Parts: sequence; structure tokens; C-alpha cells
Amino acid sequence: MEPNRSYTLPKLPYDYSALAPSISEEQLRIHHTKHHQGYVNGANAIYEKLDKTRKDGGDIDQKATLKELSFHVGGFLLHALYWENMAPAGHGGGVPKGALGSRIEKEFGSFDRFKKEFTATANSVEGSGWAALTYCQKTGRLLLMQIEKHNVHVFPSFSVLMVVDVWEHAYYIDYKNDRAKYLENFWNIINWDAVNSRLEKALKG
Ligand code: MN
Repeated sequence: MEPNRSYTLPKLPYDYSALAPSISEEQLRIHHTKHHQGYVNGANAIYEKLDKTRKDGGDIDQKATLKELSFHVGGFLLHALYWENMAPAGHGGGVPKGALGSRIEKEFGSFDRFKKEFTATANSVEGSGWAALTYCQKTGRLLLMQIEKHNVHVFPSFSVLMVVDVWEHAYYIDYKNDRAKYLENFWNIINWDAVNSRLEKALKG
């Protein structure tokens, strides 16, 4: 079936209260229904504008439009990945197994070393952005990606395995300005099965 040419806010794979105490119900609800929805609306509005302008034969300010579109599409896609790489409290965290566990050890030396590097990546994002664990098809490497906003410093075609949102809107209700504390608690709700599935899919090409 052909997609309908616009985005829809995906449902969370758990209840709004499921990630507490790492992420509270209020924090998660606002993040999903206001911020994520905002990127859905932002991208869809640009798509509609493109359709209309092309139909009317008008000019498109490509530079401004594509910059804005990249921001909203990046925001939409990253949030969808973020929700799915977390699991309800008590079902997440720990240490990854399977292909992911062994690849992390091969690439970083140990899980602890990976954890330290990923956390440092997330903690040092300047302003708003994301940390991501990715897989490069060309080299077979696991690589960290530090994304500014939703779209700056993204390596094209890398498979994104796991992301953490470090925009203040992701943690401010629960942690105020303490990003480090939010990240510490993020490790307790990572859905390693979901991250491992993404890697296995990427390994199959
Ligand atoms: Mn966010």
C-alpha cells in the first residue's frame, strides 16, 4: 500500500507512566504529544506547501524550505527511534547480549568503555541535540554520532541503532538543567532487545 504522503504521530509502545522514575508521566506525555507532534505538524505543513506551490506554479525558497524540512523530518524520525529504544522500568537496562553485545565489545573494548563514551557524547552536545549509536555498512564499524538540533552532523546512510534525546525539553520537568543525571537514569530503561534487532536488520543489509 502506498503511504499517504504525510507523517502521523506514532503511538508509544508503552503507557506514559511506564518509564518512571527515569522519565515521569508528565515529562513523557508533554514530550510525545507536544514536541514530537510539533515535528509531525512542521514537516507536514512544508509538504503541503510544496504541493500547493508546485500546483500554483510559484517559486520555492529552496534554501530556507529544505533547511526547515530537514529539521522537522529529523525531529520526527529521531523521536520515533527514541521511544522504541526504551523499555518500561524493570524491563530495560542491564547489558546488551547477542550480536550487539559482542560488536560493542569488539569496537569499544568493553561495555563500560562504550557506556562512558556514549554518555560523554550525549553530555557534550552543544545546546540541543542527540547522541546516537550507529552502524556503518561500508566499514562494519559501530560509530557514535553527535547530532546537533535534529539534523546537523548526521552521516548519510548509517543505520541508527540507539538514540538519546538531550534537548532540554526531554528532561527539564524531571531534572531541571541536570542532563548528566537524566543520562545516568536513561541507562536503566534502554531496550537492548530493540537495539539488537536494529543491528541484526542492519547486518542483513
Ligand atoms: Mn525531543
